[in-house]
Amino acid sequence: MPTRPRTFGYETRQLRPTAAQRGPYNDKRWYAARRRVAIRDLFTCQECKATVGIRKGDYHCDHIKERPVGAPWSPETWDNDSNLRTLCPSCHNKRSGGRR
Ligand SMILES: [Zn+2]
Repeated sequence: MPTRPRTFGYETRQLRPTAAQRGPYNDKRWYAARRRVAIRDLFTCQECKATVGIRKGDYHCDHIKERPVGAPWSPETWDNDSNLRTLCPSCHNKRSGGRR
C-alpha cells in the first residue's frame, strides 16, 4: 500500500480551506453586518473615498482589527460596527492581499 506524499494534507488545506479556516463568511449575520456597515459608510470606500456599488462583491467589509484566522463567529469580531468599515475591492486587496 503506497504511502501518501507528506505534503498531501497540507496542499489540500491550502487549496480548499475548511469552513473554520474560511470563517463565517456565509453566515447570514455577517451579510447583515456588512450591509449595515456599507449603509453607514454611504457605500463609500473609507480608504480612497470612491463610491462602491451596492451589489454583493462591489463593496468589501474590512475588519479594522484583523480577525484571528479560523476564529469562529463572535459578536466582537464579526458584528461590531466599530471594528468594521467599507472598502472598495482594490483597496481591500491592497490591504489584505485578497483576504476578506
Ligand atoms: Zn478604495
